[in-house]
Amino acid sequence: MTTRPPVFSKFREVQEELGLSGRAIYRDANGIDSLIIRYPYSINYIHSYAEDTEFFLALADGKLKGSKCTRKSCRTVYATPRGHCMACGAPTEWIDLPLRGRLHSWTTCHYGSEAFLKETPYNLAMVEFEGADSLLLVRLKECVESEIYIGMPVEARFDPEPKYSITDVWFVPKRG
Ligand SMILES: [Zn+2]
Repeated sequence: MTTRPPVFSKFREVQEELGLSGRAIYRDANGIDSLIIRYPYSINYIHSYAEDTEFFLALADGKLKGSKCTRKSCRTVYATPRGHCMACGAPTEWIDLPLRGRLHSWTTCHYGSEAFLKETPYNLAMVEFEGADSLLLVRLKECVESEIYIGMPVEARFDPEPKYSITDVWFVPKRG
């Protein structure tokens, strides 16, 4: 008979055991046992950016693309690009956004998804641009929380080794 996995009533102990042997039994406050196992899990995504393609190609060239409504009576400008205008429904066209803007709002995230774990806690900012009617949600780096203020001038930085992901761009405080 094989040895049963060890039983723990504290989940922290279960986690430690999972790190060692990959199997443990968690006994809850009602005495109910749950067998818990740990195993690696990975998948490869195949993802099409479709009409967002220009935005991600531009990041690799150190440019930020927004979009502008093609209807003459509207001309709403989106810092988060839209294929169609959210105000009037007309198609939009690509425009270059300025690489500098101002901080509209921000939050410090103490939890993050896998892509951001290494830099957690990190700052997420809403950036406003001259001439744009909407904001861009982007990471704010190279500053500590106490330095950040609404209206702070910020500028874009781009990953020199682009991954064709939104993490290819972030903003930093504009110095000097
Ligand atoms: Zn429009």
